[in-house]
Amino acid sequence: MVERPAAVVKELIENSIDAGAKKIEIEFRNGGKSYLRVEDDGFGMTSDQALLCLERHATSKIRKASDLDEIQTFGFRGEALPSISSVSRFTLRTRTEESPEGNEILINGGKMIHVKECGMPRGTRIEVAHLFNSVPGRRKFLKTENTESSHIIHLSKLYALAHPGITFSLIEGTRTLFRSPACESLIDRVREIFGKSLSECLAPIEVESEGMLLGGLLGKPGYSRPTRKEMLFYVNRRPVESKTMSYALLEAYHTYAPKGRFPPAVLFLNIDSSLVDINIHPAKRELRFREEMKVRTFLIESILKSIKEISGEIIPQEQKIEFEKDSISGEMVPKIDDQLLERFKPRDSSQPFRITDKKPELNLSTIRSITDPVGQQEKTDVLPDKVSPPTHPSKVVGLRDEVHATWRLVDHSHGDMALFITPQGVVVFHCRAAYERIRFEELEDSFVIKEKTSSQSLLFSESIELNGAESGFLQECLPKLSEIGFVIEEFGRNFFRMEACPAWLDPEKAIFYLRDFLEIANESGGTKKVESYAKEAMIKQATKNLGSAESYSENEIIRLANQLLSCRNPYTCPQGRPIYYELPIREFENRFRRKL
Ligand code: ADP
Ligand code: MG
Repeated sequence: MVERPAAVVKELIENSIDAGAKKIEIEFRNGGKSYLRVEDDGFGMTSDQALLCLERHATSKIRKASDLDEIQTFGFRGEALPSISSVSRFTLRTRTEESPEGNEILINGGKMIHVKECGMPRGTRIEVAHLFNSVPGRRKFLKTENTESSHIIHLSKLYALAHPGITFSLIEGTRTLFRSPACESLIDRVREIFGKSLSECLAPIEVESEGMLLGGLLGKPGYSRPTRKEMLFYVNRRPVESKTMSYALLEAYHTYAPKGRFPPAVLFLNIDSSLVDINIHPAKRELRFREEMKVRTFLIESILKSIKEISGEIIPQEQKIEFEKDSISGEMVPKIDDQLLERFKPRDSSQPFRITDKKPELNLSTIRSITDPVGQQEKTDVLPDKVSPPTHPSKVVGLRDEVHATWRLVDHSHGDMALFITPQGVVVFHCRAAYERIRFEELEDSFVIKEKTSSQSLLFSESIELNGAESGFLQECLPKLSEIGFVIEEFGRNFFRMEACPAWLDPEKAIFYLRDFLEIANESGGTKKVESYAKEAMIKQATKNLGSAESYSENEIIRLANQLLSCRNPYTCPQGRPIYYELPIREFENRFRRKL
């Protein structure tokens, strides 16, 4: 049964864990052939127990037949210690909490040499020297020292991973290979004994279904290893070699790891022990499940689900659009998913040029300084002309072939939607929403700017007839309205004429804007500030225009995008709906399941 030094180490570690150890130290020399020691601070044995444990089938771990079905402890066969002591020079030292002295038993090649008292702290220390010396036939089958060492090291790591709460040390000769104090979590233990590079490419997972629980650490997509050495499996906390588990892992990853490379994983399956055949090969770690297909399906599904969660891949669900009532227009509009908005918010690194949260500069031209990046303002622009010519040759937004531009327009054939390529991915952009945001911030700015905001004359002045209350209110507001760019004159009782409107307002809509402004003021009794009515009227205008997609030329879109990116809030329109989404390249890689 004892095939090699690592198998001895395994039995001894399992006994220490069964004995409730908080600290386990493992030492070996010459691949474990000449010497190995496993020492713990567990509950130890009395002198009687110590003698008994060396008799065959002297396990203390099974008391009744039914225990066999619910084995929680590792050892249960009561064979390990007698077997080991029969083929080595075996020293057992052990003491319980209650015993005043410890006991030492020395056995050589199965022959008892001595039993004597010894001083020692609580716990058990087992030393195995000259393994298989007395069995030359066995000894010659042992591999090289290096191979045997690597088995011991691997095995010690496996147990250390399964029990982060136990302090583990591994010593080879005079060299400490690792010493890992009790850790809070598995990932900490991985870092301690395998190093940072492995721990960084793993992410914790936990999936439970049908009485099975899969937990542990799974390689993030994109990380793979040249060998299967970092594919580690446990069933009910015992390290196992399981074809089912490794098959499930590779199957789930076959689209995530390149051919011939292996995903790192430390997977713990917890499953009703009656569904596991651990008795088939007691000495081997290979195990079988009684409901093979069920376990395999559970594993593949759980791993796939976890990979997707880790990578942030969107799992396509039924597209269900929820609607909500727009507070201003009273119309039903698609509801905005705040989480989605947050998720696709562009990263700051891609926006070095954005004016963030700054108080508006007193000069509008600063805000608009990156307009018209292509330098060919069109006469037919539907957008009001800008106050100042561009001062930056900045290529923040440009056409498809303008390689230096951060955003490059690739398409705008679908209503208000435009598509840009960015270094991070693809931006889907809503022209109308951007237009509204830009106008809105210009309006806001116009209240901050001390000098009169620039106006644009209307081709034909518009007249407007008001009721007494409205007319009184408008008269009160005229000075303020004139500051923000309106030129309105009274030319008769309750009659007014608009000669010019602010540059930020579409002249065709100026009179409707004024009507909205007065209506909103009237509804609220005229108690608020002009500024807030002006803003509300702006929002109302935007809502009215919903659905009437204008067709923007490429240059207009580019200008819009440039202006938008210098807005204080480029993310949402004045009503809080998104203006653009950035779909990161990673998102596409996930969908294509390969690197781009
Ligand atoms: P098994 O683990 O299957 O019971 P072993 O031969 O490994 O059989 O151990 C025999 C018995 O010796 C155990 O049942 C346990 O009572 C005792 N024993 C072995 N190692 C330790 C230890 N490190 N601390 C306390 N008791 C131990
Ligand atoms: Mg045992």
